[in-house]
Formats: sequence, C-alpha cells, structure tokens
Amino acid sequence: MNRKKVRPLIGQGKVADYIPALANVNPNQFGIAVYGNDGTTYHAGQAHTDFSIQSISKVFSLTLAMKHYGETMWERVGREPSGNPFNSLVQLEYEAGIPRNPFINAGALVVSDMNQSRFASPHYAMREFIRRLADNPNLHSDKVVSTSEYEFRARNASMAYLMKAFGNFENDVEDVLHNYFDNCAMQMNCIDLAKAFSFLANKGYSRHNDEQVLTARETTQVNGLLATSGLYDEAGNFAFRVGLPGKSGVGGGIIAIVPNRFSVCVWSPELNKSGNSLAGMAALEALSESIGWSVFG
Ligand code: GLN
Repeated sequence: MNRKKVRPLIGQGKVADYIPALANVNPNQFGIAVYGNDGTTYHAGQAHTDFSIQSISKVFSLTLAMKHYGETMWERVGREPSGNPFNSLVQLEYEAGIPRNPFINAGALVVSDMNQSRFASPHYAMREFIRRLADNPNLHSDKVVSTSEYEFRARNASMAYLMKAFGNFENDVEDVLHNYFDNCAMQMNCIDLAKAFSFLANKGYSRHNDEQVLTARETTQVNGLLATSGLYDEAGNFAFRVGLPGKSGVGGGIIAIVPNRFSVCVWSPELNKSGNSLAGMAALEALSESIGWSVFG
C-alpha cells in the first residue's frame, strides 16, 4: 500500500463532534486489518485499538433482521441509494415514511424496530451476535457514547416519530433509540471487524465459528446494498475510487469486502464532509489499486 498517499491526510479531516463523547478521540491514529477466507490475518498500525463502530453496526442489524424476516422486510425499507447525508429527513416525508435503504439512519432505525419486535433484549441479542461473529466474548458497548447519543437524539428521534406517523414503526420510539445507540456505541478494533464481516467475503459462511450466517444469495444482496449505499451520499465516489462493497461509521472505521477473497477494516478518526474517514478511504483506494482488483472488473 502506498503510505505516502495516506499519511499526509491525517490532520486534514475533522473528528465527529455532533456526538460529544466522540469529539475526545485522539485524531492522529490509523489502523488496518485484513482477514482472508483461509483464516490468515494481516494488520498494521493501531489495529488493536478499540473505537466506536457507529454506523458499521447497521450491517450487523441488517444481517440479523434478514435472518429472521427474509424478503418481507423490504416492504418497510428500500434498496436505493439516497444521494443524501446519512441523517437527512427530507426524503422520508415525500416517500411516506419508507426509508431509501437500511444504511441511512432512517433505514437503520426501521431495521432496529424490526429487531425490537423480535427480541426481548434487542441490544443483548445484537451484542451476542457480534461477539460470535468477531470471535471475541469481551466486546461491549460504551455507555458514555450511547448516553451522549441519546441526549443529542433530536434528529434520529424526529425520523423515528415521522415513520411512526406513517405507520412504519411498531415499537416505542424511545426504546428503539436506546437499542440503536447501544449498537452504534459498540467498541471494536480493526481485527474484530475484519473477522466479524468475513462471512460477507465467503458466501455467507463464517469460518472461525463454522456458521452459515446468511445464504450465498443473501450475501451478494448485502454486498450489493453496501456497494450502492454503504457510504451514503459518497457511495458513488467510493465505487469510483475503491470499487468494493463498504460501510463507514462516524467513529472513523470503514469495512470493505473483496468477495471470495478477504474482508478488510481500516480506521482513522478524522472524517471528510460526508462523515467518512478521510485517511481510511485513501488507504482502501491504495489497497484496491495495489491488488489491481475491484468488483467492477
Ligand atoms: N450513531 C450515529 C447516528 O445515529 C451513526 C451515524 C454514522 O456513523 N454515520 O448519527
């Protein structure tokens, strides 16, 4: 990988500060981990440092919901890129409370509502699922971060109440918000995340815990959604520069999938204007350039 293209970007972005607890993270950090389908792991930089996974959790929530709801879930959430920021409210009103896709906040809130209907303790069900996928029984959610998110929940709460008004929200909004924030506040490192998402590179099969997490068909569907919507209004730019299914979070992490080969996680806390890790995007671009491969040929 070409370090010369990545390192100068550290110091050029901005750590997420709309969630006050995230504003305190040291911006000068970078980590990367790769988990191959044969179980080989490579890592560099601060790959062992835990960070807030934030919207990367939306992929776990979607996976859990798909396992239980199958095709029926798509009546409540779309599969189209939004072309808008992750926390935008504008489309929800004129599209009658059906969010464009499961990776913008509105979509993830509907998916969380589905999981809320299904599990007695939705966050604990999610935490157990993530621990199993990452093969790490110690993973936990950071209460300081989730409490801070709940305190500043106005925008997410507005989306959820608007969807409720349209009849696309079954449970108590505040309960779902608590679980959604607890999921976003999971602390994981690059190695955990590369490992946890290895099933998306391996036709739905998680090698280390011998589990078929999704069918091969569902796996290509999730990867398709990641490629079109995983980086919100920057999904096109990510497809152009990196050419892999990916998902970012405002904690500065990005996971990407090289189907049938490996999963990768990069992390660097400073974000660009779309809320995606500045150095992380550059590192993935350098990686896809150096392996000479993308899902687009
Ligand atoms: N928890 C964040 C929110 O709801 C997640 C956003 C993100 O990572 N893009 O705003």
